[in-house]
Amino acid sequence: MDGYWDRIRKDDKFRRGEEKLNGMIEAYVKNLRETGEAALFTDVIRIPVVVHVVHNTTTENISDAQIQSQIDALNRDFRRANADISAVPAAFSGLTSDLRIEFELASRDPDCNATNGITRTATTVTSFDNCDFCTTPETRNPVKFTSSGGRDAWPSDQYLNLWVCDLLGGLAGYASFPEDLAARPTEDGVVMDYQYFGTTGTVSSPFHLGRVCAHEIGHWLSLRHIWGDDTVGPVDICDGTDFVDDTPNQEGPNSGCPGFPHTSCGNAPNGDMFMNYMDYVDNTCMVMFSHGQSERVVAALSTVRSSLIGSPGLVPPDGVPGPDLWSQDTNEDIGDEPNNLSPDFYRSNDIWVRNTNDGFTNHEHLNPVYNPSSPNYIYVRVRNRSCSGSQTGDVKLYWAFAASGLSWPAPWDGSVASPALMGNPVGSQSVTVDGGEFEILEFEWYPPNPEDYASFGADKSHFCLLSRIETATSAPFGMTHPETGNLGNNVKNNNNIAWKNVTVVGGSTGGGFTLIVGNYSTGEMKTRLTFDNVKNAASVFEWGQVFVELPDKLYDKWKEGGMKQKGVQQVSTNVFQLLRPSAYLGDFNFKPMEIYPMHFKFVPNPQTNITQVYKLKVEQLDLSTNSVFGGEIYTIKQLGTGLDDGKDGKTINVREENEKEKVPVTFYPNPSRGSITMVNKDGITGDALISVYDQVGDVRFSQKHTFKNDRDQLNLDLGKLDAGLYIMKIETKNGSYKMKVFIQ
Ligand SMILES: [Zn+2]
Repeated sequence: MDGYWDRIRKDDKFRRGEEKLNGMIEAYVKNLRETGEAALFTDVIRIPVVVHVVHNTTTENISDAQIQSQIDALNRDFRRANADISAVPAAFSGLTSDLRIEFELASRDPDCNATNGITRTATTVTSFDNCDFCTTPETRNPVKFTSSGGRDAWPSDQYLNLWVCDLLGGLAGYASFPEDLAARPTEDGVVMDYQYFGTTGTVSSPFHLGRVCAHEIGHWLSLRHIWGDDTVGPVDICDGTDFVDDTPNQEGPNSGCPGFPHTSCGNAPNGDMFMNYMDYVDNTCMVMFSHGQSERVVAALSTVRSSLIGSPGLVPPDGVPGPDLWSQDTNEDIGDEPNNLSPDFYRSNDIWVRNTNDGFTNHEHLNPVYNPSSPNYIYVRVRNRSCSGSQTGDVKLYWAFAASGLSWPAPWDGSVASPALMGNPVGSQSVTVDGGEFEILEFEWYPPNPEDYASFGADKSHFCLLSRIETATSAPFGMTHPETGNLGNNVKNNNNIAWKNVTVVGGSTGGGFTLIVGNYSTGEMKTRLTFDNVKNAASVFEWGQVFVELPDKLYDKWKEGGMKQKGVQQVSTNVFQLLRPSAYLGDFNFKPMEIYPMHFKFVPNPQTNITQVYKLKVEQLDLSTNSVFGGEIYTIKQLGTGLDDGKDGKTINVREENEKEKVPVTFYPNPSRGSITMVNKDGITGDALISVYDQVGDVRFSQKHTFKNDRDQLNLDLGKLDAGLYIMKIETKNGSYKMKVFIQ
């Protein structure tokens, strides 16, 4: 249906492009797995869409409502919000994935005019062909060019182009692959027949739920057919692959609505994953993407299609006076001052941290990792909201110890050095950005040593980041609204200022984290700590348990404030369990520069939904104005358990219960107080490296051992590690194995 197999067989250039792209995507996914990262953006990615309706008859000129119904269907299916997801058989139900991508009709066109994201073109062409092996763009894809009776694409680095027309020969739709993007940018996008687009109007059963388009956009985001496209040609029909590990090998496409299980290629007992969007079944029977497909899509969006993330396509051009440098507070932000679209305005996706300098292609935000000999890298995306005209500014970047009550300029300016340095400038760089474009700046950064904070009970270093774009050298530095001590208002009121307070919590293992609460401002502050869910993310309360521990003095403050609370349960003197969203602790009366470390402990439930992003936001409410002063978002990214038998890289998404059988050693006790006995039970022989990783992937312990025979034992002393969950990895010449270790 999509021409993929023909291209692979007949088109050498396409095949080389395919190999190159697959290499890039596989390297990306492999790197994510090795660093223990789940391939999930911390926030949902929004893709600007333009729909080009090319019509020969009035029937083909489908309504705006029909177009919107397709957009709604995509958002339902790509966000796993479809009610019929429940139809997935139990054998596959643990593999369904929320791709965390949303689609929205563009509000700015390439000429910087306001638009509804729809173009309409009357044509004399009665139906359009798709001819992959034709030699000119207009003959390959006539609907994609005005000169051949269609409509020219909008720039494919900024928009997803969808054409709707009458396709020749009953073709329902077809997609371009990312492999073609560089060579054929004007032919990038998806073409749909008007009878299979959307869920209303001219739409026709059994392809009436908008899922042909989901399938085609899957291709556009690098997904292959689930059977591996090996149904024809001189090859073994079970030999092809969709380059995804968690979809079973499958002989060929399914159609209609098969009964479960439908077996082929020796994939009994569960058989084909025919209910996947990348099969050919009826719309009512395709209901899921898998985790492996999610990884591939995120990899494509982070690499070959990453420019879409910086697209101005969703920023209305109205009211933009001239060149205007800015960064997004959140992905809903369109640059308005003040920004009233973003409730949690301290989670900018235009600022992200990487532990190595790969952030131009990998936009996954990581916790910084302290290493005196190796820097971290902070990336800042600077956009220009205007239609034309460049602007130059200085991007000033700052860090602060993770805190919910941050003011301006302290502690970002380095002025708070007691009990330890609580913030400091990272650096400054000049940048010039053309209208409608963006630039990404890279800052090298050595975060401070977590040991420096141990003196006042802060056991783990997590940081907030602040980026200010100054376009003038003197106050107010080009800010529309002069800055005050209230940083929250500064960020909301000025699109030049972006703020990132996001801590990544170890997915399957949980972890402990410190957040500074208190008052960096120059006046007294009466405040309340609130704990709540975050829009667009699953609730942390579905994932596990959260405990907060107040240090003695903060606990006393809570008592002085009247011991007010909601939705929490006191489990020991200073420790509270958060029971539900909208919980709070209060009131606290803080004097200027009064700060305390508050500890969080995240404990996962044994059974949690995998491939999901769970979030908890902690905010400090200023009770005198009833406004949010600042906050921190804890993000739990969880894709499987991260466990891997290491042999072929193909079992990474298997649940831990199945993995346990494969581990060739036992150890006890677990939990332990640090002294562990390990027993060889499965005949490992030879050298092994035993490493223990913490939740952020740091090696905290390692020891070499030469296993002599079965039942060989050794003792490991992990007594120096803090209490918590760790991952132990054993690397041998036959493979590597991972397991959880709990230190009490
Ligand atoms: Zn297809």
